[in-house]
Amino acid sequence: MISCAEAVEQLWEYLDGALIEQDRAAIEEHLSFCRRCCGEVEFADELRVFLAREASEEIPDEVRARLITTLDGLGTV
Ligand SMILES: [Zn+2]
Repeated sequence: MISCAEAVEQLWEYLDGALIEQDRAAIEEHLSFCRRCCGEVEFADELRVFLAREASEEIPDEVRARLITTLDGLGTV
């Protein structure tokens, strides 16, 4: 079983569909029981869509603050 850190590390590739089937399955297995990472996925997916759509605009303070909080949280795992 992979750890939260490993799951989050591959999150962007996962969202981009860039992972091989084996890694993808490992993350999905992890997400199926880990609420914390599910929150990360929802947030990262949200941010990714936002960045793709608003690439030319500045990230709102609200989103930036949430991103920083998320990254800080990951550092304490
Ligand atoms: Zn997790």
